[in-house]
Amino acid sequence: MARTPLIIGNWKMNVDHVAAVSLVQKLAWTLKDAEHDPAAVQVVVLPPFTDLRSVQTLVEGDRLDLAYGAQDVSDAPPGARTGDIAAAFLTRLGVTHVTVGHSERRLHHGEDDALVAAKAVAAVAAGITPVVCVGEPLEVRRAGRHVEHVLAQVDGSLAGLGAEQVAAAVVAYEPVWAIGTGEVATPEDAQEVCAAIRQRVGQVHGEAVADAVRVLYGGSVKSSSAASLMAQPDVDGALVGGASLDAAEFAAIVGAARP
Ligand code: PEP
Repeated sequence: MARTPLIIGNWKMNVDHVAAVSLVQKLAWTLKDAEHDPAAVQVVVLPPFTDLRSVQTLVEGDRLDLAYGAQDVSDAPPGARTGDIAAAFLTRLGVTHVTVGHSERRLHHGEDDALVAAKAVAAVAAGITPVVCVGEPLEVRRAGRHVEHVLAQVDGSLAGLGAEQVAAAVVAYEPVWAIGTGEVATPEDAQEVCAAIRQRVGQVHGEAVADAVRVLYGGSVKSSSAASLMAQPDVDGALVGGASLDAAEFAAIVGAARP
């Protein structure tokens, strides 16, 4: 089955709502100049929550071929959860994707697989595609236990989703040691773990679901490394952090994903 490559730009806690408008405009122009075909490669940006309304206004007003999402979502419905953002609010803002279980949330907010799974369920219930992030820390990689570590996260984080929902979801393999460090995984390392993730999805939900689910690599992806990573058979795209803040660099990564 041909899976449409997906490139997601995670802005993290960078770019306020004023700067977001110029970054999205610049990205849209750059992609247009590069004759980007949105049917061939899907592109999503993940601005901070406070930018989403501005990004929505721009994307809808200028009819930009660009999707946008959020970096986190509450597992709870609207109510007494101070500081949290309900999935239904994101749907109203035109959000299509949301990362759940990013390693920075697992680290700084103590998020575990059970919470990540509940967030994925809340996203799906609101019609939003969850991008479920998994990945091993350096000591686990050094001990050679990276595949088992990641598969345990996959089992726990996808636990609440049925087969159809997993088929439509995205899993992002992001080794913690590669995020924001400049140390990108080799294409072979990325392929090993992405293939293992797909195989596990197949064991749990069957081959058709394994064929459909998109598995991304994330961790210090740049335009210089993107093509060889995405040439791997089980790497369907990239979750890009730092490099997504530069429109030209991000557009070049999108170009490298062209089948
Ligand atoms: C990320 O934030 O998910 C990420 C992969 O960051 P970077 O590309 O900067 O390593």
